[in-house]
Amino acid sequence: MAISKRDRIDAIERAAARCEYCQTPLDYTPDPLVIDHAIPLVKDGTDRLDNLVVCCWGCNGHKFTSTTAYDIETATIVDLFNPRIHEWNEHFRWSNDSTFIEGSSPVGRASIDKLNLNRDGLLNLRSVLKVVGLHPPK
Ligand SMILES: [Zn+2]
Repeated sequence: MAISKRDRIDAIERAAARCEYCQTPLDYTPDPLVIDHAIPLVKDGTDRLDNLVVCCWGCNGHKFTSTTAYDIETATIVDLFNPRIHEWNEHFRWSNDSTFIEGSSPVGRASIDKLNLNRDGLLNLRSVLKVVGLHPPK
């Protein structure tokens, strides 16, 4: 099966046209848009809208087929952030200058580490988008 054009459009609208992991506006990310599977197809995930995640190629490449990661603070393996079941604001927050994503839960911390949500290019982009009022997201 493949992702329908309708589901693709709905997924992008639902994501407010931002990467659902790093929150980068898709109009400004240097990486191509990817429709990710929260639960990967190789782990019996589906192509249905309730399993689709809009993200940038960078986040998708780091996540690959992972669904869990290691949280260094609690020294445990935890679920990765899943935009279909988790609220971004419950697991992440912006640093005071809103450049860095900080984890506020084991899921958040492990996901930042696994998906490398504070990549150099993203930090630079956030600084520039902040100047023009496009960051942090409302
Ligand atoms: Zn991203």
